[in-house]
Amino acid sequence: MNTLNITKKIMSKFDIRANKRYGQNFLIDDNVLENIVEVSKITNEDLVIEIGPGLGNLTEYILTKCKYALLVEIDPKMIEVLNYRFNDKDNYKLINEDVLKVQIDKIVDEIENDINFKFKNVKVVANLPYYITTPILFKLLEDENRIDTITVMVQKEVAQRMVASTKSKDYGILTLMVDYFSHANIEIIVPNSSFIPEPDVTSAVVSLEKRRKYEVNNEKLFFELIHKAFAQRRKKMTNSLVANKFNNMNKEEIENLFNKLGISLNTRAEELEIEKYIEIVNNI
Ligand code: SAM
Repeated sequence: MNTLNITKKIMSKFDIRANKRYGQNFLIDDNVLENIVEVSKITNEDLVIEIGPGLGNLTEYILTKCKYALLVEIDPKMIEVLNYRFNDKDNYKLINEDVLKVQIDKIVDEIENDINFKFKNVKVVANLPYYITTPILFKLLEDENRIDTITVMVQKEVAQRMVASTKSKDYGILTLMVDYFSHANIEIIVPNSSFIPEPDVTSAVVSLEKRRKYEVNNEKLFFELIHKAFAQRRKKMTNSLVANKFNNMNKEEIENLFNKLGISLNTRAEELEIEKYIEIVNNI
């Protein structure tokens, strides 16, 4: 396939200029497109959810591999292009919506009912709009239970935060959330020349396999803890928790808890492993 030529033709035919507001950087490198599809291991029994199909460059590869695809695109101009480009295909549902407002689980159930087929796996495969990467990832991890795997293009810096180790500058809320819900791996580093227009940053494809490895008694409190621990990451963690009123506990209560669990009162949020965060919550 010559995705670069196809992209140029479509952009000229529909008079399209990439819309920065929607984070539009179209992937035109066929090697990278093939790699993404290979990494996501799509089979003809899978439902693929593509967030932001844009002009359909990745969609073209996805539709040949999967049983069915759910495409969620915010830009009406792209909807027009996608309807035209995939006019001869019938194994997809295209929704013109903000993905953050879509109840994915519910739509997956509806598609299964409509086509009378139970999908083996539900896989997200996407070149994400970078301006809302984190909210999208949190939604896919936290709220949507039907999703099994996620293969996404993100900024390289974000990919590094997703798989960071403790005590590194990249370790933070995103690291802990990703680790809590999944096993993540950086698969491919992608130069900006693989897109038009070229983004200002280097990108990376990350794969996440959703799994539950940890036992947390109160998830809501766990999420509150990690957000408040990193709210002032340069402070000692006890001070950040007190200042941000974690679980409405006072300084003495927090210090007693840390002492009981053998966590130094000088610890900063980035120094603590996920197991310790979980221990804190499970001891409240
Ligand atoms: N998949 C295409 C590709 O790889 O060439 C386009 C990827 S582009 C980086 C991101 C896409 O997400 C754009 O098509 C953009 O319009 C769409 N988008 C941006 N915000 C969105 C949102 N909130 N919900 C759904 N789609 C969104």
